[in-house]
Amino acid sequence: MKQCSWDSSSSITLIAGPCSAESYEQVYATAQGLQNLNIDLFRAGLWKPRTQPGCFEGVGSVGLHWLQQVQKDFGYKVATEVCLPEHAQLALEAGVDVLWLGARTVSNPYAVQGIAEVLRSVNVPVLVKNPISPDLSLWVGAIERLQKAGLSDIGAVFRGFSTYPTERPLYRNVPYWSIVFELKRIFPHIPIICDPSHITGQRNAVAAMCQKAIDLGFDMLMVECHVEPEKALSDAKQQVTPKELGIIMQALSPRNVSFSEDEQLNHYRILLSEIDEHLLSILAHRMTISKEIGNYKQLAQIPILQAEQFASILQERSAWGENMGLQREFVEHIMSIVHEESVRVQSEENNKQSFHINDK
Ligand code: PEP
Ligand code: MN
Repeated sequence: MKQCSWDSSSSITLIAGPCSAESYEQVYATAQGLQNLNIDLFRAGLWKPRTQPGCFEGVGSVGLHWLQQVQKDFGYKVATEVCLPEHAQLALEAGVDVLWLGARTVSNPYAVQGIAEVLRSVNVPVLVKNPISPDLSLWVGAIERLQKAGLSDIGAVFRGFSTYPTERPLYRNVPYWSIVFELKRIFPHIPIICDPSHITGQRNAVAAMCQKAIDLGFDMLMVECHVEPEKALSDAKQQVTPKELGIIMQALSPRNVSFSEDEQLNHYRILLSEIDEHLLSILAHRMTISKEIGNYKQLAQIPILQAEQFASILQERSAWGENMGLQREFVEHIMSIVHEESVRVQSEENNKQSFHINDK
């Protein structure tokens, strides 16, 4: 694996290919489509650990022959995901150049250890995706298990984290950049690759996330690419065509130097924006509950404004805030504004309901 420096802005290492290998034709056509893009590694998942049963779980070892054909005809290095020790064994035997451990596997230390045992004494490059949950120690632990098995060519892939869905409407997986900065601090020499496809979960957000990754200092990208994305058997919403990927790569600007001048200040700003985004998404979630309360009050014929209820909320929340080291007045001020907006949302809902009733 090409080693990269976290701060370099010269060239971008690009890993691209379908989420899943589905058929020989689909793999071959995608590889062909990527020919002009100068990719560094062709990816395709053969074994797909899916969150829910009944989804496409990959073609399995038959796809190893397809990857061999891609190596032969296009000269690409190829990569696939290994979830169990036997996958690692089969991939090594087939001459797969790079293996990766997916988010679900990294969340399972037994599986990671089993794979590390198979790879002991074979210094194959391995990419380690972050685990599903925002748990830095699981990510670090998986890398350490591989290192202890003697593997030295390791990369980390940042694909964001799952979270309570209503709280984060922006992306499929929340990119807590603070966690990736911390991983970089712990392993300064491990290259970190950004996976904008899994972070965003939407193909039209991939370009902006690629640019953000570059601005933040990543110089490696892993992008899911499919000849007919809307027909993909997994992750259909987030894959782009080879042609679209070409356009995305062309439009990327090198890292904005002035933006990176003060690295520490830059990191603080990113942390603040991460927190603000979280605050806003929680507020948005709170307002959806206000809407439901508005409906409920309408049906139960309960008045929207209940002064004693608000007084007790204010009392309780201010005490919580004080315990957290916040100024009482500050908390009262925030809670009053939030309450005011909640009343507005409830009344709006109430009006809609009355409108519908009168309409009938
Ligand atoms: C993938 O890369 O297709 C994949 C399954 O990713 P993750 O493990 O990040 O969900
Ligand atoms: Mn995928």
